[in-house]
Amino acid sequence: MSRKYEKQEVTIVKKRCIATYCDACGKEISMPERYCGWHYYHVRTGYNDWGNDSAESIEYYDFCSYDCLKPHQDKYFEDARGSEEYEITRKEIPEQQMKY
Ligand SMILES: [Zn+2]
Repeated sequence: MSRKYEKQEVTIVKKRCIATYCDACGKEISMPERYCGWHYYHVRTGYNDWGNDSAESIEYYDFCSYDCLKPHQDKYFEDARGSEEYEITRKEIPEQQMKY
């Protein structure tokens, strides 16, 4: 088997998250002077009501502080009708998003 090849230059664009914004107050989650401890809250919501449709019910939110998270959580359960889930994960702010 004999083949001939040519070189082709390909540009790959990688997506890298450089900023996260609070879904309640809209502020950037990267300011240590306000968010001491370098943490924020990541939330996953969803429900188990309709079998396979459940996957489509999943939504993600980020909150800069517990004060911002709490009203969202209250509202979520006010509107709840069935087996709603509200999973809170306390996360560290990624290195590349920190502003010194
Ligand atoms: Zn906030």
